[in-house]
Amino acid sequence: CGIVGYVGGRPALSIVLDGLRRLEYRGYDSAGVAVVDDGAVLTEKKAGKLANLEKALAESGESRIAAGLTGIGHTRWATHGGPTDRNAHPHVSQDGRVAVIHNGIIENFARLRAELEATGVEFTSDTDTECAAHLLAAEVRQLREAGLLEGPQLLAEGMRRTVRRLEGAFTLLAVDVDVPGAVVAARRNSPLVVGRGEGENFLASDVSAFIEHTRQAIELGQDQVVLITPAGIEITGFDGSPQEGKEYHVSWDASA
Ligand code: GLU
Repeated sequence: CGIVGYVGGRPALSIVLDGLRRLEYRGYDSAGVAVVDDGAVLTEKKAGKLANLEKALAESGESRIAAGLTGIGHTRWATHGGPTDRNAHPHVSQDGRVAVIHNGIIENFARLRAELEATGVEFTSDTDTECAAHLLAAEVRQLREAGLLEGPQLLAEGMRRTVRRLEGAFTLLAVDVDVPGAVVAARRNSPLVVGRGEGENFLASDVSAFIEHTRQAIELGQDQVVLITPAGIEITGFDGSPQEGKEYHVSWDASA
């Protein structure tokens, strides 16, 4: 129901949690975060209010999650699978290398899930979302083996190949353990805005999530993929063609 992403020079976790708090008014039943740090994708997720997630984070004793500079966060309004810890987002690929959060509904998830299960993938939730994590991990793996792309560009192409297989409505954000310093996102029939900072960039379902950090926003068009790194924002169509979003200045007072 709410989505936040951050990449830059500051620890991502507190920025992402603040952003989720700003989106709380939309209502949700679970919350979770994923942070990339030092060769690991660290996740925490909990059914219930953000306070439950924050308690779990405090009790986990995992200090790296508070240190990583790349992160994504999600508040869930369950559509497929009950509001439980394991159905909360992020969903992580079986190899633990890719984490995905999603707002919306992937209509063809049952077919994709059956296809993935036939290749030996074991699902750990009842959501429509989880298939996107496994698909993305498989695309990234294939691209890496092909050796044609690397780094953020590889992750962006993996996302484009993944969303071309999805039907329905989605805002998807993903991070990859091998691509620290990048968050990739895609949207179809579901909202997504980029916040342009200095040496840092933001993604959110709503500008109120990042308004305290920047007022330069870019609204994405339909069927676009956006890659953010500390240095840049790159928008393409699902086919990889270069595209632009609608850039504007947020002038209203979001703190009111
Ligand atoms: N359909 C997904 C789920 O049930 C995402 C729901 C949402 O938009 O929060 O997990």
